[in-house]
Amino acid sequence: MSDRKIETLVIIGSGPSAWTAALYAARANLNPLVFEGEPVGTMIPGGQLMTTTDVENFPGFPDGITGPELVDRMRAQALRFGVRAVQERVEKVDLARHPFVLKPSWSPEVGALALIVATGANAKWLGVPNEERLAQTGGGVSACAVCDGALPAYRNKVLAVIGGGDTAMEESLYLTKFASQVVIVHRRDRFRASKVMAERVLAHPKIRVLWNKKVTEVLGYESVSALRLEDTVTGERTDLTVGGLFVAIGHEPNTKFLEGQLELTPHGYIRTPSPWRTCTSVDGVFAAGDVMDDYYRQAITAAGTGCMAALEAERWLAHRGLGMSPILETAEAPVAASPAAAD
Ligand code: NAP
Repeated sequence: MSDRKIETLVIIGSGPSAWTAALYAARANLNPLVFEGEPVGTMIPGGQLMTTTDVENFPGFPDGITGPELVDRMRAQALRFGVRAVQERVEKVDLARHPFVLKPSWSPEVGALALIVATGANAKWLGVPNEERLAQTGGGVSACAVCDGALPAYRNKVLAVIGGGDTAMEESLYLTKFASQVVIVHRRDRFRASKVMAERVLAHPKIRVLWNKKVTEVLGYESVSALRLEDTVTGERTDLTVGGLFVAIGHEPNTKFLEGQLELTPHGYIRTPSPWRTCTSVDGVFAAGDVMDDYYRQAITAAGTGCMAALEAERWLAHRGLGMSPILETAEAPVAASPAAAD
């Protein structure tokens, strides 16, 4: 016997997917517990929206809303229905046992009958001077063209896109709708992107490519004015005047704490094997938001998958007769009978 407290449903994360899952789960009387994380280095609870200034594509806000305010509102809405939120990270999980065992940063381990992982992904940044500051202050530095490209600040300007993969190609093509010109800055002399995408980019009249160049500094005080570049072959330094910078060098899903206990995709995202479902390779564990989505990566799709995960978790628990009674106080909760995916 263990005196570990057993929760019906634990949600890990604090972005749109986590708070939407929490809202739905609370309204379904699952009394969810959310581990919303704590600030560590560049990680901020709330996810990528915390570094987004204007969100103009989340329905319901005709005048736009800032990323942090949107997260605050989602959190407040979930708390209104009794969601319990703990400002701690989950450092370790044991998904081989049921109830699952979660080890938070400092408070005692908890058990969970069902678990929703909604830990998001981080855009990778270059790590050069002024990049982070201008990204956080809405100074024309972004890691998401679909989120920010249509904002007035980027219209009819020369926009730089950094990277040579499919994301950089996609972002560049998208930005041609708004920019006067798109300049791709790539550190090598060929793209990593798929041939078809690269060909579309190279044929586009609004796009030019600077090969063998790396950014060493972003210039500008209130907003980006130029990029300091270094030629990766000759070492020559030049400045490129731009009105906006889109960093498109990949994303990193936050899955390290899972230590390989959930099946991942080749790109490191949690694999959800059934189309339009959020169940994972472990029965009773569901994934939502950018940690399982390397394709859409939008706040609204994250919220959508959060809703799906909560509904699936609720049905999974109900089908097994779990989660209907008050929280059990021992680790000896009934074990799920079937290893099949949630139904
Ligand atoms: P990616 O394929 O890993 O490409 C990242 C690019 O960024 C590479 O060109 C890399 O340069 C460059 N890069 C990385 N770190 C850098 C740094 N510090 N400074 C400068 N450049 C740096 O990532 P991705 O483009 O996000 O794509 C991820 C996966 O999703 C890929 O498999 C891709 O095919 C897929 N995807 C598919 C689609 C689609 O099919 N529509 C769209 C988006 C993504 P090097 O080439 O020199 O390494």
